[in-house]
Amino acid sequence: MEKIFEQSVSSISESTEDYYNEDSLLYCGKCHTPREAFFAKGIALMGKKKHPIECSCQCIERTKQEALINQQKHNHLVRRLKAEGFSDPAMLNWTFENDNGRSPQMHHAHRYVEQWQTMSAENLGLLLWGGVGTGKTFLAGCIANALMEQEVPVRMTNFARILNELNRSFSGRNEVVDKLCRYPLLIIDDFGMERGTEYALEQIYSIVDSRYRSQKPLIVTTNLTLDEIRHPQDTAHARIYDRLLEMCIPVSCIGVSFRKENAQEKLKRMKLLIG
Ligand SMILES: [Zn+2]
Repeated sequence: MEKIFEQSVSSISESTEDYYNEDSLLYCGKCHTPREAFFAKGIALMGKKKHPIECSCQCIERTKQEALINQQKHNHLVRRLKAEGFSDPAMLNWTFENDNGRSPQMHHAHRYVEQWQTMSAENLGLLLWGGVGTGKTFLAGCIANALMEQEVPVRMTNFARILNELNRSFSGRNEVVDKLCRYPLLIIDDFGMERGTEYALEQIYSIVDSRYRSQKPLIVTTNLTLDEIRHPQDTAHARIYDRLLEMCIPVSCIGVSFRKENAQEKLKRMKLLIG
């Protein structure tokens, strides 16, 4: 009777003050779960048999705070990756959210991001080729943004910038190239070396080859046609293009090119993955 009376009193008053229950533990007045627990096996420490614990509502509050902090850390990291990874702030807007849906190739970008673990593990890149204004750069930018939002470091740049960096670098070209090769994904936009000097071609080959040996994927966009890439004008171009074709699956502006004559395992694998 006493207990029923107590309960009815407490429910009437709707007090949110902590209280001692009949188990002699302190309970939270809000969530009615214990804020104390007994030491195991009835042990007493410093004369105390009980120690404070989190009640249910404190636990929920702490979890919320931790999630908020993790979200802030994530946002901070993504901002930093994008600041370092993009050479032009306009690239920040090249996202799947901003896609107008007109590019028939966009599903390749989605699939590439979805299959990123495999692309990375098997060193599979893309060679996005086709005329000006076919959205190749936008497509590559979407991949970059989406992966960086998953905390994957990506560098999107072009050879003109890389060659400038090489010329300006005081610490030597190795450091510039090593840094490019450390990124899990490197995107080289607007590739095309028709006007390349012998020196520039040598540098470009060296970078592509270093990337190849680092066994990490490379995505390249180019206005060259696949025919031009497959039938280069001279050996200096040929060895660059050969490397690219070893690393990157050609994607044309009207669909993926899976030529039968190019029966490399990598291409078969890619076909399987992006359909
Ligand atoms: Zn509580």
